[in-house]
Amino acid sequence: MDTHLEELRQSFRNGRTRSLEWRKKQLISLIQFIQDKENAIFEALFQDLGKHPVEIYRDEVGIVLKSANNALSCLHKWIAPKKKYVPLLFFPAKGEVLPEPYGLVLIISSWNFPLSLALDPLIGAISAGNTAVLKPSEYAPACSSLLAATLPLYLDDKAIKVVEGGADISEQLLQQKWDKIFFTGSPSVAKIVMSEAAKHLTPVTLELGGKCPAIFDYSSVHSNMKVAAKRIVGGKWGPCSGQACIGIDYLLVEDKFASELIESLKRVLKKFYGENSRNSTSIARIVNEKHVERISNMLNDPKVAGCIVHGGLIDKQKRFIEPTILLNPPIDANIMTEEIFGPVLPIITLDKIEESIEFINARPKPLAIYAFTEDETLKKRIISETSSGSVTFNDTMVQFVCDSLPFGGVGQSGFGSYHGKYSFDAFSHDKAVLQRSFFIELEPRYPPWNDFKLKF
Ligand code: NAD
Repeated sequence: MDTHLEELRQSFRNGRTRSLEWRKKQLISLIQFIQDKENAIFEALFQDLGKHPVEIYRDEVGIVLKSANNALSCLHKWIAPKKKYVPLLFFPAKGEVLPEPYGLVLIISSWNFPLSLALDPLIGAISAGNTAVLKPSEYAPACSSLLAATLPLYLDDKAIKVVEGGADISEQLLQQKWDKIFFTGSPSVAKIVMSEAAKHLTPVTLELGGKCPAIFDYSSVHSNMKVAAKRIVGGKWGPCSGQACIGIDYLLVEDKFASELIESLKRVLKKFYGENSRNSTSIARIVNEKHVERISNMLNDPKVAGCIVHGGLIDKQKRFIEPTILLNPPIDANIMTEEIFGPVLPIITLDKIEESIEFINARPKPLAIYAFTEDETLKKRIISETSSGSVTFNDTMVQFVCDSLPFGGVGQSGFGSYHGKYSFDAFSHDKAVLQRSFFIELEPRYPPWNDFKLKF
């Protein structure tokens, strides 16, 4: 490992990754990798998570291609120094901000979108001119080994390396001195990452998770119920069967509308996944037995089991958990205190939908808040009175693909952001450059101090 890292540091020091040409060449090769290996990617993601090729294209392949193409076309603008206004006091002077690469960066990623969560940050690291080590998640082994075996055939091996392994390898990597660490994963591991980074004062971006609420304001959106129900089901069970950091974790609705909402969701579930969702190829599988066990334990809690109003079937052998809806599980049960990260949707009823603000604020800051409402007053209150990585009205998940917006968390859901230009920024230091001339000299700035200089 030491030899490999020294090679990467050397590549950075000798300026190998700095030119626009090098960055563009890597991005073009990354696109080529995706295109050449599309079938292998489909196979690996099916093996790891049982994802359908359409879902893979939408959530992984398409996302990476879009990011790489966007970076390719914007890179010349992103790397250009930005001229800045310099106050008269400095006259004559020129000021600019120059984005410079950090150096050697470490990217540790998660398993639920094993391709895009690894390659999307890498696109930022390459665009910004860094050398990089990518450590994909061991929980998606087929994708991890595909990346390790084939990515080096496309990218500059003297500047970018893929290291496979689990927590032990990750811990070894964290012992090293990095110029930036970009971590996607759980808040508990993020604490380890941050404390290791602190030893070298290494800056970190932490893309974490949490419990993302959705507010359903029936009174203002009932005329769009069919669309809203599709977007809720699509956002809860669509991407990776609920194993998504920005998937809806729980849903808040007024008590009197809960049963109508549940019936609408059931109708959409049937339409999307058929009478028996176990036979559907349109829903991903749970990543491994450990996670099936984790979600089963949440559901089998005697306080929770009686709250199941739809689904509940678990097939451990096939790593399948039926899309499941719970009505009013106790809020001190694990299912309401821990991130579910699976195909289970608790619905919590309130007397008034406005109470959802207090409910959300009583919990750690989520990565995303969703609100189905046309009530402008409620919208304003949600925006100004809650804190989260993002707020999306009347849809779910789509903020992830809107590259003009930053994607990232706040508080327990992380800090820093990426996507589009924000990915470039995440891997760049904005260097301030001030150029003065010898033309004018203000003597009062120098000692010896006297009353005249004090007045000046
Ligand atoms: P995790 O924290 O267990 O693992 C993430 C990465 O850290 C993996 O590569 C793993 O090998 C490594 N790791 C595990 N233990 C480690 C240790 N002790 N020291 C150093 N590295 C270690 O998370 P996960 O199970 O892969 O993902 C689930 C979590 O990630 C959820 O909380 C989810 O919300 C979050 N997530 C966030 C995003 C986002 O973009 N914000 C995306 C996906 C997942």
